[in-house]
Amino acid sequence: MAASEVRANNQSTSIDCCTYSVSAVDASYGAAPSQSNILENFSFEFKGGNVYVIMGPNGCGKSTLLRILAGEISIDSGTLTFRCSRGRHRKTIEYIPQDYRQALFPWKTTRENVWPWQNLRTPDNGSIDTALERFGLGQFHGKYPHELSGGQQQIILLSRSVVAPDQILLLDEPFSALDVVRRAYISEYLRQQWQPESKTVICAMHEPEEAVLLADVILVFHGPPLNLVGVVSRSDSESSLETFREHVEALIREVAKEEKNVDA
Ligand SMILES: [Zn+2]
Repeated sequence: MAASEVRANNQSTSIDCCTYSVSAVDASYGAAPSQSNILENFSFEFKGGNVYVIMGPNGCGKSTLLRILAGEISIDSGTLTFRCSRGRHRKTIEYIPQDYRQALFPWKTTRENVWPWQNLRTPDNGSIDTALERFGLGQFHGKYPHELSGGQQQIILLSRSVVAPDQILLLDEPFSALDVVRRAYISEYLRQQWQPESKTVICAMHEPEEAVLLADVILVFHGPPLNLVGVVSRSDSESSLETFREHVEALIREVAKEEKNVDA
């Protein structure tokens, strides 16, 4: 697969009601004089019902982009707009940080940690139990985080992403502590749960092998500032995960070559 054959459009084929649009956004991080630009005039439309995976070298700004999309880092200019053409969905965001321990309460049980807040949008206990069962954590519902492995702690947060009523899900390296064997099953279950709800899901990930299991669309960046090198869609790959992965790897090789040239 030649890199030149990689499709680099920024439209997904899914027609859905919700769109989270990033338009001409500039954003920076830190304070002067060590301030660094993260986004420069960046635009992209994330469409509901799709799982987007953002990839790029370490330190390129993927996590910062997620935090900007989550509203945790304010932008210098441009707009972040959520629109639902059916008027059915509101802009609500669930953000799960890379350090999953930050998102768990040590004094709460597995079941309580799936949805640790009590509010109007609290999911019913049945859906929490179903998610835990499907992820193989049913028998651990009464355990506390310190009694669980890193992978089990991360699964609590994947369960949260399944039961969350929020329309936009932002997950930073959601599989980092999971064993490789379970990633395929877990990816398929997550896709089944997220898609019917027209959710807009954006994940930062590292490995092409795990990214293609989860993604409808993969965005490859280099930076900082984040520069979108190309976009590869599952639908461009004739439903073959192998082809999808080859397309993504070709783009990543292009980025690595470019970085080498810059260093030279
Ligand atoms: Zn909608």
